[in-house]
Amino acid sequence: MLNAVKQSWLTFRSIFTGMGVTIRHFFGPTVTLQYPDEKMELPKGARARLYVNIDDCIGCNLCARACPVNCIDIETVASTQDVDLGKTSTGNPKRFWLTRFDIDMAKCMYCDLCVHPCPTNCIYMVSEYEYSEYDRSNLVYHFSNLEPEMVAEVKDKAEKEAEQKKREREEMMRKKAEEKAQKELEAKKKAEEESNDKEKGEE
Ligand code: SF4
Ligand code: SF4
Repeated sequence: MLNAVKQSWLTFRSIFTGMGVTIRHFFGPTVTLQYPDEKMELPKGARARLYVNIDDCIGCNLCARACPVNCIDIETVASTQDVDLGKTSTGNPKRFWLTRFDIDMAKCMYCDLCVHPCPTNCIYMVSEYEYSEYDRSNLVYHFSNLEPEMVAEVKDKAEKEAEQKKREREEMMRKKAEEKAQKELEAKKKAEEESNDKEKGEE
């Protein structure tokens, strides 16, 4: 009998203890966030996704070289003499067309190492973190704003200008070699004449 009373008391006590916890949380402040309708504010400096303000990029490649996992892929083409690409908002002159600027966010490990060496502060982390994809290739972000036709055009122009410069350099080298050979010939001739004059004088 005593045992049955004790068991009943323990049962009721555990029920009331459990109910007490439930009632306390029922009337307490809510901590559950109803994601995605509600979102937590990210802390300052959170690293979520990279962004490149391509208008301020000078194509120096420092970010790509700093990346430990090679997830930044940049291709540049030097601008030709007839084109002035202007300056960035930080005043740096732009000398390259950015024909490709891709970042593979599937490989990125959010280390931020690419951000710090950028001389124009145009690559940085933004707070966008909802960018999951079914296809991994969609995680390669393309920041170059050049159309394929424009890319082909600037490459073609740069190639022609490089060929022209090469021809001019070769022509200059040829002229220099000719001048040198001419000078050597004249010096030899002069030396022979002087030697002949000397021989005649001795006779
Ligand atoms: S955050 Fe790190 S891993 Fe990601 S692109 Fe920059 S350097 Fe590479
Ligand atoms: S370091 Fe900055 S300026 Fe240089 S290529 Fe990268 S994003 Fe462009």
